[in-house]
Amino acid sequence: GNQHKVEANVLLLGAENVGKSALTVRFITRRFIGEYGDIESIYSHIDKTDGREIALNIWDSLYPQSCETTESISDKQLQWADGVILVYSICDRSSFEVVRQQVQLIRSTRKLSASVPIIIVGNKRDLLHQRAVSSEEGRLFALSADCGFFEISAAETYHGVLLVFHEILDLIKESRALK
Ligand code: GDP
Ligand code: MG
Repeated sequence: GNQHKVEANVLLLGAENVGKSALTVRFITRRFIGEYGDIESIYSHIDKTDGREIALNIWDSLYPQSCETTESISDKQLQWADGVILVYSICDRSSFEVVRQQVQLIRSTRKLSASVPIIIVGNKRDLLHQRAVSSEEGRLFALSADCGFFEISAAETYHGVLLVFHEILDLIKESRALK
């Protein structure tokens, strides 16, 4: 039978090439495989860490090509999501700007999504010599927008990725308790 009721829908957003797929695959398989292609997919996963079982769906999105649409997030995605992980690369300034825009878009679009839990992730922390966005800037922006914040390397460690997903699950639980 159907043992697990899905407890959370988590949407990954952000510019191209920032590591959304790397984060997703790292969380689900604990591995980093290097190349992921341009695949958009919703993965179902049972998280069994900490002795609890949580069923979640993870939507690993594709950043739309500018010609396809004017909005970088669809209503369908926002209605679906219980929590959002917004990813940028610490080496790519423009990807940080995309995250800023996407936060504004989520917070302003509709009543439902205005209060959706968001975590901002600065990925590729291993590439320190190419850093283009400081930790302080990332953290301060997240604070000002009422979002969680982590800097991680999906390439180097599983641990940071795990923290990100556990934090979004905790925030989703909290937000439900408030309703
Ligand atoms: P997406 O387009 O946002 O899904 O990005 P991908 O997950 O496909 O990753 C884009 C590229 O960045 C790939 O070549 C990955 O191997 C690489 N990448 C992802 N995460 C990291 C990281 O933490 N550090 C480094 N150095 N490269 C990464
Ligand atoms: Mg991808």
